[in-house]
Amino acid sequence: TTFTHEFTSGPFVGKVDFPTGLYINGKFVDSAKKGRIDVINPTNGKKTMSISEATEEDVDLAVKAARNAFETVWGLHTPGYERGRLLYKLAQLMREHAPELIALEMLDNGKSAMLAGLEIDQAISVVEYYAGWADKVQGSVIETTEANLAYTRREPLGVVCAIIPWNFPLSQVTWKLGPALCTGNAFILKPSEVSPVCPLRLASLIHEAGFPPGVVNVLAGYGITAGRAMTEHMDVDKIAFTGSTLTGRRVMEAAARTNLKKVSLELGGKSPNIIYDDCDLEQAVRWSIMGLYAGQGQLCAALTRIYVQESLYDKFVEAFLAGVKHMKIGGPFDPEAVVGPVVSQTQYDRVMSYIEAGKSQGASLLVGGTRHGNEGFFIQPTLFGGADEDAKIVKEEIFGPVGVVTRFKDEDDVVAKANDTVYGLASAVFSKDIDRAIRTGHRLQAGTVWVNCVHGLHPQVPFGGYKQSGIGRELGEDAIHSYCNVKAMHVNLGIKL
Ligand code: NAD
Repeated sequence: TTFTHEFTSGPFVGKVDFPTGLYINGKFVDSAKKGRIDVINPTNGKKTMSISEATEEDVDLAVKAARNAFETVWGLHTPGYERGRLLYKLAQLMREHAPELIALEMLDNGKSAMLAGLEIDQAISVVEYYAGWADKVQGSVIETTEANLAYTRREPLGVVCAIIPWNFPLSQVTWKLGPALCTGNAFILKPSEVSPVCPLRLASLIHEAGFPPGVVNVLAGYGITAGRAMTEHMDVDKIAFTGSTLTGRRVMEAAARTNLKKVSLELGGKSPNIIYDDCDLEQAVRWSIMGLYAGQGQLCAALTRIYVQESLYDKFVEAFLAGVKHMKIGGPFDPEAVVGPVVSQTQYDRVMSYIEAGKSQGASLLVGGTRHGNEGFFIQPTLFGGADEDAKIVKEEIFGPVGVVTRFKDEDDVVAKANDTVYGLASAVFSKDIDRAIRTGHRLQAGTVWVNCVHGLHPQVPFGGYKQSGIGRELGEDAIHSYCNVKAMHVNLGIKL
């Protein structure tokens, strides 16, 4: 079965046509149990397509195919420069098909053309970045004694399964696929059941790029069946996971219970945004609006707790609310809209329940808080003030367009408040006093600190969480190391003792 769709407006005008089966061992096939997953358009709540649903049997087939490819044609059998060449070819195909990928992501996820465009650009640069690494992953020579030569090799782990969420399906794939393939691992991807369309389209491009059969496999399926089967499989060497902290815990438990497969976890966040009273107010407000509401707040690094220094609080809130009033709400194919729908009915219900919790726990609603329109999953950008620091809306990840603004006294006060969370993914600091901004950044327990900016991500800069926001780092050279085993070679040079 294939998906065909005619786009009549937006970044891509024309017909798309691609297979919706499981991609296993170089072929698109039906799932063993013939199950299907309905894909819903968040802009109107209607079904756009149905795709094959993988279950345990399919996962097992994919693992066998990946293991075979790893041991016979990939892994240590394909030189780095050849792996790099295939990754460059994939990046080139993604670039050629970028308008189509952007349109599909808008349809599937409700994301604006601008955000989908940024995501796809980023995904391509990540693949290119790791293509460049493929023949540069090296061990080292270590001096020990005259009689011994010690050196290290970085060898691939084997079969890696990537389990990803729905918010940035294409960039999330490449953050894992890039370092996994450039180091010679075989790769199995399980996209989220909520937004599998771009990863499925990518499967056709992977096929076209010419990776040997079994090196890359793409299986859409539910977490509780296909995802769990991957985490429990005895012949999987690593799970590269991005998603909620709750599911991350399950992934790690399953790994511990079975073959102690390696795990990398990119999990949730409740990131603070610190506004000192000497900041450039206009810039700080603009960045803060983007930091909170980009992608309808469905970013793991969304800056959802805004802390403003006392003397600037009223002015900041007034400017922030004025900025929010100008944001037009509408579907992704409305060129003037900057706020789109949240991704699903489940997500809509979850976000609305947090808004209710905010109200019932005594916070004051400064803007938003209600549904927009009659169809689709639109929620107005929402901001609460005066919330208790222990309130649910301050403590828990909402993953929607809902933030909290709070006053603080001085640096010590705000560092204590910002760090009072189980999460530690990202943070931002706004101040013209760069010494203070950097000092504050060093005191924050977070994997990323943005100073006088938000949401910058670059392929060469590591990304990941402190505390319950995760284990390990993605992007940059750090990610490469997490897809390799280090082998220490000790060679007796024949010098008699
Ligand atoms: P989720 O945890 O519900 O699902 C993530 C993936 O795990 C999906 O593919 C799902 O099918 C799968 N899954 C579910 N149960 C599973 C199980 N028992 N075993 C194996 N796999 C299972 O998360 P979501 O709702 O898709 O995404 C939102 C979450 O992702 C948020 O918490 C967000 O912060 C986080 N996130 C983190 C980052 C990061 O880089 N740190 C990036 C994006 C999203």
